[in-house]
Amino acid sequence: MPERKAKEPTPPARVMSIHAHPDDQEFSVAGTLAKWAQAGCEIISVIITSGDSGSNDPSKDGSYKPILAELREKEQLAANDLLGVKETVFLHYPDGELEATLELRKELTRLVRRFKPDTVLTGNPEAWFYGDEYLNHPDHRAAAQAACEAVFPSAGSRLMFADLLPAGYEPHEVKRLYVHGTDKSNTWVDITETMDLKIQALQQHVSQINPDEVGKWMREWAEEEAKDKEMKYAESYKVMVLKKDKEEA
Ligand SMILES: [Zn+2]
Repeated sequence: MPERKAKEPTPPARVMSIHAHPDDQEFSVAGTLAKWAQAGCEIISVIITSGDSGSNDPSKDGSYKPILAELREKEQLAANDLLGVKETVFLHYPDGELEATLELRKELTRLVRRFKPDTVLTGNPEAWFYGDEYLNHPDHRAAAQAACEAVFPSAGSRLMFADLLPAGYEPHEVKRLYVHGTDKSNTWVDITETMDLKIQALQQHVSQINPDEVGKWMREWAEEEAKDKEMKYAESYKVMVLKKDKEEA
């Protein structure tokens, strides 16, 4: 059996994608989400800020932020529609000021307990530098850190954030954590069939990107990820198996 088959994970029944900004998900994991949605997976997309600082237009000031937030939420919803996302949750934290606070961890814990995903996808909380040209956005690290900390230990530990219990949020153990944007990948998802959909989803974010240009370098990135993996296009992850399925135990 080729390595590709061995590495390709089984689509989960329910997945939660947690990211800082509208468009983060499309840049990173959208090929995987579209593929899993087509396989019947329920997808919950959590967007922590609404990207309200995402403009350097000199004619704009702070009064533009709520307008931009609304626009970017619409763009995200259009992207999520294309990907087959079942539920989108915006948490409305301020863009560019995100920290991995206990408050955010609790908010994400509440969502994990509410939707009970068996898999959570998020960014890499350790990532400061990508290549020689991209200094990672601090919101990305903060979102990823809070997501990891909500997944473990908060979501599954009964007495953590104990006031969630009387509110009806019983503990829930996430089985797998998928971290993208890492050089410690151990899992590659073949997104050849959903590459076009990933690009189309990203193209919905017209306030942020040039829809005519993104396709080319998205394909180049995905080709680079797929190198030596007997796939044309891939998304790669470090997958943490936090709880084994019965048949794996
Ligand atoms: Zn971002």
